[in-house]
Amino acid sequence: MSAYFDYAATTPLDPAVLQVMLPFFSDEYGNPSSIHHAGQRAEAAIEESRARVASLLNATPEEITFTGGATESNNLAIRSIARRRREDHGYTRIVTTPVEHPSVLQTCRDLESAEGFELELLPIDSTGRVLTDQLEDHLEDGTALVSVVYANNEIGTINPIEMIGRVCHARRIPLHIDSAQAANHLDLDVDKLKVDAMTLGAHKFYGPKGVGVLYHRKGLLLSPIQTGGSQEFGTRAGTHNVPSIVGFAESFEKARALQLELTPRLTSLRDRIIDTIPREVPDTILTGHRSHRLANHASFAIHGVDSNQLLAALDVSGFACSSGSACKTGNPEPSAILMALGLEPDWALGALRITLGRGTTDAQVEDLLRILPDIVARLRSSQNS
Ligand SMILES: *Cc1c(COP(=O)(O)O)cnc(C)c1O
Repeated sequence: MSAYFDYAATTPLDPAVLQVMLPFFSDEYGNPSSIHHAGQRAEAAIEESRARVASLLNATPEEITFTGGATESNNLAIRSIARRRREDHGYTRIVTTPVEHPSVLQTCRDLESAEGFELELLPIDSTGRVLTDQLEDHLEDGTALVSVVYANNEIGTINPIEMIGRVCHARRIPLHIDSAQAANHLDLDVDKLKVDAMTLGAHKFYGPKGVGVLYHRKGLLLSPIQTGGSQEFGTRAGTHNVPSIVGFAESFEKARALQLELTPRLTSLRDRIIDTIPREVPDTILTGHRSHRLANHASFAIHGVDSNQLLAALDVSGFACSSGSACKTGNPEPSAILMALGLEPDWALGALRITLGRGTTDAQVEDLLRILPDIVARLRSSQNS
């Protein structure tokens, strides 16, 4: 039996969520835009899902757009807010961080190279947190939007969103946050966080892949990036993915309800991993913040070890882990995020990410902790010979 330690990459679909989705693949096949009863029932399912999601975010249903995933939500938020703010005010600066998910960073870079926006990367500390005391200096006049990751997928670091939100709010600059990793463990009250737009994706919280949400505060006018029909109040054209939207709401509600029980349990397993690995594996450091980090997330840099080789060796022994970044093939490349934290390549090449979830047991963690030092020692000796 293999042990899954890659819950930050994706989570298994909750069987109870699948049951709620199934009728919308078969009997309830109506198009929500149709006039007849079958269409009305599909539309009702979507609107009920929207209301459920909105209430969990302390938002209103009109502020929720269903998308094809977190990547699309990030694209929709950044592209439409940036373009709209330029049209309305002439603002051309986009402010983000050097440790964003590619769906944020590459979107900002594309707006820079293809549409003439200026990109500004906020300074971060060595754990990947935004330096809030320097934030004000980087929000010059003409800033169209700020986009910051809530909890980092690669290193687990949690950003002080409330503080960033307060600064942006005072300067009337819209703040978008990528909350794709946050939904199982962190507060998502949009008023408390003082955010204007928020990205979520269901497959990170035991829902289906290929469906996401963009929360966008009332008054923040979004222009579509995908044009066509008038679905989603004109924000996102295309026939709704009814089963996935229903699955989003169901899995999101369940994830929020389970947080109270899951977060403390995983936090103690995480701390056991974080305390043990740097002690038992020589020349290994924790990456990201010690305490401002996701409850289910442990990440390390192991000096002089090729992360792809390590992951393959762990896989053979029955442990599905990750390096945290998407690079799977070809020449090993050091993680851009670890480099942005100031790590040298011989450290950044040895990234190991261990992420926990509902199915993680104490025994699985102990097995992994027992086997890892030997695997690393074996790889190091074969690389040196
Ligand atoms: C997973 C993830 C995304 C993208 O999700 P997709 O399902 O690939 O669209 C974006 N941001 C973060 C922080 C993520 O963890």
